Amino acid sequence: MAKVAINLSTGSIQQEEVIVGIDLGTTNSLVAYIHPEDRKPIAINDQGQGTIVPSVVHFAANGETIVGTLAKDYLTTDPANTIYSVKRLLGKSYKDLGEHKNYFGYKIIDDNSEGLVKVRVQDRFYSPIKLSAEILKELRERAEHSLKTPVNRAVITVPAYFNDSQRQATRDAGKLAGLEVLRIVNEPTAAALAYGIGIDPAEEKTVAVYDLGGGTFDISILSIHQGIFEVLSTNGDTYLGGDDFDRAIINHWIQNNELIADTVNEDKHLQQELRLKAEEAKKTLSSQEVYTSNIDGTIDCHIERHTFETLIAPIVSKTIESCKQAMADAKLQPEQIDAVIMVGGSTRVPMVYEAVSEFFGKPANNSLNPDEVVALGAAIQADILAGNRKDILLLDVTPLTLGIETMGGLMDPIIPRNSKIPTKAGRQYTTSVDGQVNMKISVYQGERDLVKENRKLAEFDLKGIPAMPAGFPKVDVNFILNADGILKVEAIEVRSGVRQEVEVKPQYGLTDEQVEQMLMDSMLNAKEDVAARMQIEARSTAEQMLYQVERFVDKNGEHLTEEEIQLTHKNLQNLRDVLAAGGDKDAIYTAIDTLEEQTSPFAERIMQISIKQAMQGKKIE
Ligand code: AMP
Repeated sequence: MAKVAINLSTGSIQQEEVIVGIDLGTTNSLVAYIHPEDRKPIAINDQGQGTIVPSVVHFAANGETIVGTLAKDYLTTDPANTIYSVKRLLGKSYKDLGEHKNYFGYKIIDDNSEGLVKVRVQDRFYSPIKLSAEILKELRERAEHSLKTPVNRAVITVPAYFNDSQRQATRDAGKLAGLEVLRIVNEPTAAALAYGIGIDPAEEKTVAVYDLGGGTFDISILSIHQGIFEVLSTNGDTYLGGDDFDRAIINHWIQNNELIADTVNEDKHLQQELRLKAEEAKKTLSSQEVYTSNIDGTIDCHIERHTFETLIAPIVSKTIESCKQAMADAKLQPEQIDAVIMVGGSTRVPMVYEAVSEFFGKPANNSLNPDEVVALGAAIQADILAGNRKDILLLDVTPLTLGIETMGGLMDPIIPRNSKIPTKAGRQYTTSVDGQVNMKISVYQGERDLVKENRKLAEFDLKGIPAMPAGFPKVDVNFILNADGILKVEAIEVRSGVRQEVEVKPQYGLTDEQVEQMLMDSMLNAKEDVAARMQIEARSTAEQMLYQVERFVDKNGEHLTEEEIQLTHKNLQNLRDVLAAGGDKDAIYTAIDTLEEQTSPFAERIMQISIKQAMQGKKIE
């Protein structure tokens, strides 16, 4: 049972420990949690400051830091000491920044092009991890202040395309901010969760998440099945967003107003005012047809929605091109997408909403606040991890290896023990005999090398494989272990599409003591198991070799000399004798080597002959 406490400020009952969800964004960040009473996710708005915390850190001369809206004000007055867009630097080396090195208004250190970048502020150096930690600390403090409870654990979101080093850097930033990061979640996954998609493990959906923020654009295609969120493809532009809309408006004003054009290059105040007015105009045009204002009572700023739409049309088209590419990479048609989700403040622009809805052929989901949707989803994920959702049983890891039986009764592990679940893994197999039309798939659980020492979970036959030579069929065996610990095993012959599946509950009927015993047995028997595995592998290799060489000699005898055929038969018999006598693995491999050495030149010879024949068959004009 979770402990409860009374929130003294509101009198409401809440859990003693809250796990928060954090959207650590390039431009803005937010923290959210699940309200203990109505169980709904809610973005934290501490002291009425708003839910959005600009991801900006300002360093005062005395080294003191401020984060958020107050820090943002320093972007124009003290740019060298005001750090923004630090997310773009996370886990990156100076070399990685490439052509974008000049994007940043502050100093980035180029001391070692292979090492991770650092930011210089006055005479101090900060890693992007430390700077991100400053933002996380601010979010944590706001959450603690608002909820009146310590906040030590969090789920943090990252873009789906973040690599391991960027994910690790995000984790490290969390740690530096005093947070235990329970999970790093993909932003599109969180957005889908916020819309309730994927919470019911029985649900199967394909979802497009279109995320247009201030400075970045991402499109992600997700496949959601059995509680597993799989990223099928991502695309986008890390330097495209609402800021480009603002710039388009500024350029329009410069071109149409001589007063602005004449002074804008020298006048810093005017530049700043234009930026603010352009953003205000853009936001106004999301709900109205015309924007009219002025700067200092003298310079008119006027723009109509249709003009704005003409200006941004090329940018919007570019994002739709990315959607097309992502769909092509996922090998999907727009009608196969079940839901489209809008994320990021710039999706409030009606033209963007319409273009996306039109491309996917269905109205996009925008009922939730697009600035908050990722943080809300992160809060739901945090709540699941906290075990507060009784309907969702989240096992963190699978305690025993899951695999299938391969030649000679060996265990071929597919999902190793201690794998985080939900998870999915697979491997491709083929047939060992010509014309084989059935394949038995036996599923086992356990750590021993021989399946007979492990626990059998299921067995089924993949039937109807078209007759092909040995080694030709491609059978994909996939293990899908969902968050409830239910294992689905599917086998598909790729060439013909023949498919079969079975579902089992691996932990069913197993007590903790039994799991422990199985692990103990595997450790005690490790040495014997390895020896047995090697022996079986040697025998299987020998059997395959016998089969293949016999077949080869039958088919290609005409190209071999009588002596060669005789010697081959002698070596084949020798290998059969060693097997019949129960020879150990070394004896078996010696016989295999002899046979291989003698017959390997044959393959080359046959190839030359077939090439020659093929050439003769062709007419050269
Ligand atoms: P994000 O990075 O998701 O916080 O998105 C911030 C971007 O959304 C900025 O470029 C904002 O100017 C833009 N934005 C916020 N509200 C609106 C609105 N009502 N209409 C158009 N753009 C908006």
